[in-house]
Amino acid sequence: MKQRLAIYPGSFDPATNGHLTIIHRALRLFDHVVVAVAQNARKGSLFSIDERQELLREALKGVPRVEVDSFRGLLVDYIRERKADAVIRGLRAVSDFEYEFQMANANRKLDPDFEAVFLMTGEDYFYISSQMVREVASLGGDVSGLVPVCVQRALMEKYPKRLTEIGRMKSKGS
Ligand code: ADP
Repeated sequence: MKQRLAIYPGSFDPATNGHLTIIHRALRLFDHVVVAVAQNARKGSLFSIDERQELLREALKGVPRVEVDSFRGLLVDYIRERKADAVIRGLRAVSDFEYEFQMANANRKLDPDFEAVFLMTGEDYFYISSQMVREVASLGGDVSGLVPVCVQRALMEKYPKRLTEIGRMKSKGS
C-alpha cells in the first residue's frame, strides 16, 4: 500500500509546543511527516534556517517517521518534488482561517491536486505563537511550557544581555 506523506510547512522561528502537538497529531493521520522550514527572505527572522532546522531536529529526536527539511520558492513545487499527498496546517483562531483559506485556494489554483489538512489546536496551545514566544523571551520572560527545552536554551543565548540585566535588577532588589 502507498505510504501517505504530509508536509508541514512554516517559519518555525522558533518551534513551539503548539507546532509539536500538530506534528504528533499529523503522525496519527499520515505514515510520514516532513516538517519544512520555509526560506523566506522577506520575513525578518530571529533564527537562521539552519538553526530552526537544528532546533526542530533536537525537539523531535527519537520521534519516528518525521523528517526536518527546508524549501525555497513555491510550496506547490516543493510538494510535487517530494510527491507529498497533503499539506498540514494548524488553526489557532478564526484569525488564522482567512489567511489559510486564501493560501489554500491560491495553491489549488497553482496545482489542482493540492490538498491541505487543517488541524485545530486544543485550549492548551491556541495562544502560543512563535512571535509571542520571541517577544516574551526578549523581555526576559519565562517561556518554559511554551517551547521545547532546546528552544528555551537557544532563546536564552539570543537574549543573554536582557537576562543579565534582569538578574542584576533582581539582585539589587528592584
Ligand atoms: P507561518 O509563518 O507559515 O504561519 P508558523 O511557524 O508561524 O509559520 O506556523 C506554521 C503552522 O503552524 C501554521 O499553520 C500555523 O497556523 C501553525 N501553528 C503555529 N502555532 C500553532 C499553535 N500554537 N497551534 C496550532 N497550530 C499552530
